[in-house]
Amino acid sequence: MIIILKQDISPKQKDNIKDLLEENGLIVREIRGKEDTVLGAVGVNRMDPRQIELMDGVASVVPISKPYKLASRELKKEDTIVQVGNVKIGGNRVVMIAGPCAVESEKQIMEIAGMVREAGAVILRGGAFKPRTSPYSFQGLGEEGLKYLRKAGDEFGMPVTTEVVSPRDVEMMAGYIDMFQIGARNMQNFELLKEVGRTGMPVLLKRGISATIEEWLMAAEYLMANGTDQVVLCERGIRTYEKATRNTLDCSAIPVVQKLTHLPVIGDPSHATGMRDLVPSMGLALVAAGASGLIVEVHNHPDKALSDGPQSLLPQQFEKLVRDVQALCPVVGKSLESVPRIMPQGMDEGSADTSTASKPDELVVAFQGERGAFSELAVRRVFDEDVRVLPCKSFRDTFEAVNKGLVRYAVLPVENTLGGAVGDNIDLMTQYPNLTIVGEVQVRIVHDLIVNPGVRFEDIERVYSHPQGLAQCKEFLERELPNAEVIPFFDTAGAVTYIKETGDKHAAAIAGAPAAAYNNMEVVREAIETNPRNYTRFFVLCREENAAVFRSANKPDRAAVSFSVADRPGSLYDALVILNKYSLNMKKLESRPIAGRPWEFFFFAEIDIPDIDTFHKAFEELKDRTNGLKLLGIYKSGH
Ligand code: PEP
Ligand code: MN
Repeated sequence: MIIILKQDISPKQKDNIKDLLEENGLIVREIRGKEDTVLGAVGVNRMDPRQIELMDGVASVVPISKPYKLASRELKKEDTIVQVGNVKIGGNRVVMIAGPCAVESEKQIMEIAGMVREAGAVILRGGAFKPRTSPYSFQGLGEEGLKYLRKAGDEFGMPVTTEVVSPRDVEMMAGYIDMFQIGARNMQNFELLKEVGRTGMPVLLKRGISATIEEWLMAAEYLMANGTDQVVLCERGIRTYEKATRNTLDCSAIPVVQKLTHLPVIGDPSHATGMRDLVPSMGLALVAAGASGLIVEVHNHPDKALSDGPQSLLPQQFEKLVRDVQALCPVVGKSLESVPRIMPQGMDEGSADTSTASKPDELVVAFQGERGAFSELAVRRVFDEDVRVLPCKSFRDTFEAVNKGLVRYAVLPVENTLGGAVGDNIDLMTQYPNLTIVGEVQVRIVHDLIVNPGVRFEDIERVYSHPQGLAQCKEFLERELPNAEVIPFFDTAGAVTYIKETGDKHAAAIAGAPAAAYNNMEVVREAIETNPRNYTRFFVLCREENAAVFRSANKPDRAAVSFSVADRPGSLYDALVILNKYSLNMKKLESRPIAGRPWEFFFFAEIDIPDIDTFHKAFEELKDRTNGLKLLGIYKSGH
């Protein structure tokens, strides 16, 4: 049952409730949600719920209708984020786990680990105990394999996961690995689940070969009832009558499971298909279906692999898959997890400026706009969901906040695929010499029609939004709300706050879903923008001294510069010839008016930098052919 606690409950009252439940043999878990705190009590229940309902501090008691309790969404509405070493699984991330089916030798796992890490994997996999169909097949290297796996993980900065097949190995394995894997064949090995659950460690739980979704969630419940709340589910295909593939990938299990449980769910396209050629497309299908990540088998010599060679991707195929997944991420509102993710505690390594207003160990990120704005969404894509933010009124205020050291980073829009460049921010970047661009993130702009709770679509007489938001939803407004008054507002999320504050029962605002959620408002129509291919690109900026720690996590592949050229024929051509000479691809060239000098312009350019030394050489030569050349930053493109 779920015991919903009153907001003003005292610690003593809470303890009394917990004690009573535990005395009656129930397992109790406290779950703090955004809105309220609840206690989940599971086990053989002999208590009358009314007895608990009458206790001080209890708001209400609700039974959990599903047989799985701790794993159910009824108990916990918010997504669980599972922490594996320095990597988080769940929420708005897509996590790539890769490695060979089995650890075969130290050399093999070292080589493959380096390759998958370079390609974008953040967790390393590799079996040491292999549950093979035939007793005569390679059974894994056992503890020796675990040592190699650990070494490879440490060498390349990746947490590691491997399959456990026997309760007697659990304790030994816990010393080597970051996440247990329960294989499909062992999904209902209840003694194993209990023993692994008791460690409290993260567990990757594969779906059983012929398990229903409910049986799979009951297996998760076993793990949770025994002490871990860190469970990641993995769809890996099920046994059907179809023989064309090794198993039948059940893509629809992903959204179904997400409705039923708060636990993250990832996909395994390797075991689902059994064929290398099918792995990339099925991997993308899983991400499109909403998977929080993929676990993929990769081998540098698949023909010689001791297990599952035919389904293992070559490292270069895996790299291509990662790129494709990265391109898909903005469509599903997620971003690819990179290693190490910039985390508040990780920031200690940066040379924190102690004169700053925020505490040196505290990561605060500034953005322009109201809470729930698309810019805030961008912040949470780059940093953690729970990172502290500073909303600023104007773009200049946002630059000032980071320049003065009030915040460590700022995230600012530079370009929209429909609206073009955000000129103000390009200009501002040239005016703050202490600031540098360290990152880029793309966010898909999906506009919703948002109203006060209870307001019906038919009641809408006025629609507020930023002029861009109104323009981008023009077709919908003309078609569906031809008589509504359209009122421009200074920003999209601000329009939501405004109609909330006025309580206007005849108004709607156009903004992103987070603005509705943040303000507890209702969405009456989703995705009303005319063009679904609407993306905004944001830059992450910081002071020079904080740049290294960010860049070390996201290897730069692009540079942004600004310059002007002499007022004579061919001067821009002369500058661009240098880029050609070094085979540097220019991705963007904008011209901007120079303030106070009518009809004079500067250029803002972005350039691919396959290697940094070549870029530096070109940059030195460019100095002679341009005026006021500035390096605005180097960063990893297109998160
Ligand atoms: C594996 O991941 O190597 C494996 C054996 O997977 P499954 O349990 O899904 O068959
Ligand atoms: Mn395998």
